[in-house]
Amino acid sequence: MTDVQGRPATGILYVVATPIGNLEDITHRAIRVLGEVDLVAAEDTRHSRKLFARFGIQKPLLSYHDHNERQRQEVLLARLRGGEDIALISDAGTPCIADPGYRLIAACRDAGIVVTPVPGPSALITALSAAGVSTERFVFEGYLPQRAKARADLLRQLVGEPRTLVFYEAPHRLAATLADLAAIMGGDRQLVVARELTKLHEEFFRGTTAEAIDRFEREPARGELVLVLPPAKQGPQMNVRDALRKLLNDSDLSRREAVKMIAKEYGLPSSDVYRESLSLIKEEAQDE
Ligand code: SAM
Repeated sequence: MTDVQGRPATGILYVVATPIGNLEDITHRAIRVLGEVDLVAAEDTRHSRKLFARFGIQKPLLSYHDHNERQRQEVLLARLRGGEDIALISDAGTPCIADPGYRLIAACRDAGIVVTPVPGPSALITALSAAGVSTERFVFEGYLPQRAKARADLLRQLVGEPRTLVFYEAPHRLAATLADLAAIMGGDRQLVVARELTKLHEEFFRGTTAEAIDRFEREPARGELVLVLPPAKQGPQMNVRDALRKLLNDSDLSRREAVKMIAKEYGLPSSDVYRESLSLIKEEAQDE
């Protein structure tokens, strides 16, 4: 439905990307749209006020986040139906990419309200663009599950993934994730830790999972992180689980000795390899 000038009678929802660090990365169009809409739905209004102050944008902000999205949806839909234009932004980067928004967008589309993207930065694409790994095909897994078992189960499913893998990770969980990656995908699996992208302390660490464990043990990671894993090299390399299974089946070593040997070979803490051996026993018990 359009009005006499051909504009939709309802408002438009703009999905606007904002910088992930460096404020110069905002687009001209994003500044214009944010300055023209009637209302901006933002994840954290205090955070967005700082961005607005930098660009002289004065617009009413309404919070829209994981904990209030259902109730806010009704308010935002009503205002869009009433003809107001609204911009949706998140704290950083592109809304809906590991950020809230898709439910509101789906509801708008169901209601026939125009939704239009205003593209810009996203940590995922920024990391991939400069990591120096194959980007022909990739899989974005978002944040890994926090629970150790769920995380390990997912990583096991991804061991043979032929596409580049991308994860978001929080710095306080990096050590646990690197240990799991090394235990499940191998201490020699290549990865890139892209840190503080577009900011003062931007860094691309490139190396094996074992080298990453060593580096971030000596100097714990700070700030925001994206992990990028190019596909595993084809060849005889075995992950820790398979190496353990083979050693236990083919030798007279006790479980303890096998764990110790594999931990040494892969440069991993024995406790991680021991955990892997327990999960192996469980798997074998289920198969019987
Ligand atoms: N919507 C955002 C986007 O488009 O990238 C992502 C939001 S998600 C809640 C936040 C996560 O993105 C961080 O924990 C980190 O993994 C990643 N991230 C955001 N900014 C980053 C940066 N400057 N450098 C590295 N990673 C970043």
